[in-house]
Amino acid sequence: MANRREFDIAFVGLKPGVHEFNFDLDDKFFAEKGNTDLSHTKAHIKLLLDKKSGFMLLKFEVGGSTEVNCDRCGNPLHLDLWDEFNMVVKMVDNPEEMNEQEEDPDILYISRTESHLHISDLVYEFVLLSVPMQRMCAPDEQGNDTCNQEVLQKLREMEERTSENNANSLWKGLDKFKEN
Ligand SMILES: [Zn+2]
Repeated sequence: MANRREFDIAFVGLKPGVHEFNFDLDDKFFAEKGNTDLSHTKAHIKLLLDKKSGFMLLKFEVGGSTEVNCDRCGNPLHLDLWDEFNMVVKMVDNPEEMNEQEEDPDILYISRTESHLHISDLVYEFVLLSVPMQRMCAPDEQGNDTCNQEVLQKLREMEERTSENNANSLWKGLDKFKEN
């Protein structure tokens, strides 16, 4: 996995106050993370980092667009990404222990000796969270199903064939049993 330095923020050198960072994520970024669900991704992340003493407030604004496949028919669905995520990053002496105990997913502990904030995994997760879990072709204005009917028909045929095959092998199994 590529470790891109653009996702490492050298926060130690930052003055207290709000700083803005911008990131563009494309298909390559998601492929490097092992994700094959999304395609034609043009995600934009705006990060506002408010540096305080001993902690930082992070606000991630996700924008842009991506494509996923419909869960029913596999047609490509164009999705606009829009979401916001807030996080608190606290500098402590024992970050591993603290992270283990912390139940709030919006709080992250890092070591006081750390100089960089690694946000590559965070922005990856946030983009995924911006994509709806249910991925279906939206009905048209008349409320009609817009899924690819040809594909759905093929799927139905395949299903019928598999259940027939299963029934056949079940009978064969029973015949054998009777012979013995
Ligand atoms: Zn569909």
